[in-house]
Amino acid sequence: MTRELFDTAIIGGGAAGLSAALVLARSRRSVVILDGGAPRNAPAAHMHGFLSRDGFPPSRLLEIGREEIASYGARLVPQPVAAASGDAEAGFVLTTVEGEEIAARRIILATGVEDVLPAIPGAREAWGRFLLHCPYCHGYEVRDRPLAVFGGVPGAVKHALLLRQWSSDLTYLANGSPVEEEDAQLLRARDIRIYEGRIVELLLDGERFVGVRLESGEAVPVEAVFLRPESRPRTELVAALGGTVDAAGFAQLDASGRTSVPGVWVTGNLVDPRAQVITAAGHANAVAMDVNADLVEDDVRGELLASRRAESRTA
Ligand SMILES: Cc1cc2nc3c(=O)[nH]c(=O)nc-3n(C[C@H](O)[C@H](O)[C@H](O)COP(=O)(O)OP(=O)(O)OC[C@H]3O[C@@H](n4cnc5c(N)ncnc54)[C@H](O)[C@@H]3O)c2cc1C
Repeated sequence: MTRELFDTAIIGGGAAGLSAALVLARSRRSVVILDGGAPRNAPAAHMHGFLSRDGFPPSRLLEIGREEIASYGARLVPQPVAAASGDAEAGFVLTTVEGEEIAARRIILATGVEDVLPAIPGAREAWGRFLLHCPYCHGYEVRDRPLAVFGGVPGAVKHALLLRQWSSDLTYLANGSPVEEEDAQLLRARDIRIYEGRIVELLLDGERFVGVRLESGEAVPVEAVFLRPESRPRTELVAALGGTVDAAGFAQLDASGRTSVPGVWVTGNLVDPRAQVITAAGHANAVAMDVNADLVEDDVRGELLASRRAESRTA
């Protein structure tokens, strides 16, 4: 039996992947989405900052997205992709963890990032609820409350100065890293308290966040902690296809999201870990149009070649 060759396979069915699928399916392209089912914002109960969907449960947005793409005939395979091979000329082949093989002319990767959390008790349980990363996503919900910023990571002081916009009751936890005098002056100028000690635990009492324990044993009572985690892009499959990936794991790409591998695009948080849901979906919308334009060119090339061959046979 001949295997179906999809016009596009999209790896990752979060906001970006689904948005790309919608545009392509509405462009009358055959589309398959392969998804591991673990979107980045899954731990959060509400999604904010998405015009007309502010406060929506993130899972509900994706549920609606899946219904929309299905209504245009896109296929969803709820399995992570384990391997990728091939090229734009011969077609790509994706193999899922369960061994299913999917063939496609073009690939969009929307596999998102992995947030690396501090290896301390309470961090995983608090993530997305009391340990937060994005003031634009959750700052308003904890406005004017006693808050802290998890320091000692790149950009932490800047993060604290930003967060001060939402609460004047703010503590900078240096987590055992020295605070440069210049930074200390900036923090003090905004009335942000500084604690130097190493953070050893995030304290939860059932469903309540109580604060942060320092190495000295002291507990700092705050209602939420903001952290800028390292975000690791899931670009293994770009590398597997021969694409260039930098030391931090980000794929080399052009302004349209095309990687160095012809026929392979990246979008969403994979391109910009700071992108919110609306931004990730918007980027993917534009990427999908670029993919469709590329497929149109490919279709025209193919037809032209076929008609020239037919002419030479009849000549
Ligand atoms: C705790 C938290 C709260 C947030 N709150 C907000 C908010 O309120 N508002 C807002 O706008 N933004 C919020 N964000 C940001 C938001 O999560 C991202 O903007 C959004 O998830 C990016 O969408 P994406 O499609 O690029 O990636 P994701 O949503 O992460 O989707 C990636 C998908 O790819 C799948 N995948 C990964 N590898 C594979 C593979 N090999 N094969 C198949 N599938 C794979 C994953 O399982 C996942 O389903 C929050 C982030 C976090 C961490």
